[in-house]
Amino acid sequence: MCLFCDIIEGKIPSTKVYEDDKVFCFNDINPAAPVHVLVVPKKHFDDIRDIASAEDGAEYLGAVAGAVDKIAELKGLGKGFRVINNCGEDGGQTVMHVHFHVVGGVKLGEKIL
Ligand code: 5GP
Ligand code: ZN
Repeated sequence: MCLFCDIIEGKIPSTKVYEDDKVFCFNDINPAAPVHVLVVPKKHFDDIRDIASAEDGAEYLGAVAGAVDKIAELKGLGKGFRVINNCGEDGGQTVMHVHFHVVGGVKLGEKIL
């Protein structure tokens, strides 16, 4: 069982922000900033290294970039925002389905990481 696969399939409710054939984007349940959207490939990859080694990984990463741009537009993030990927145990990844945090809506400190 994978939490984000269940969210993508609608088995677990979420607040959708954007969707296309490759990615599903929804509000983080525990937002770190006024805007905190998770961009999640619809195909299950464990983490960014898993996506990098997959034959179709580049397609999904391209879709992630396109979704980030869409979210910036939809959420009025023209002044900037941050994209974060946590990878693996030491990287603080808690959900083992690759995802990218789009965080913004406030002036972020330089040392958030
Ligand atoms: P990670 O720590 O793996 O980079 O990020 C996982 C994120 O998923 C966390 O920011 C956490 O708040 C979010 N999250 C965990 N469970 C749920 C859930 O059931 N629904 C939503 N919308 N977000 C979740
Ligand atoms: Zn999954």
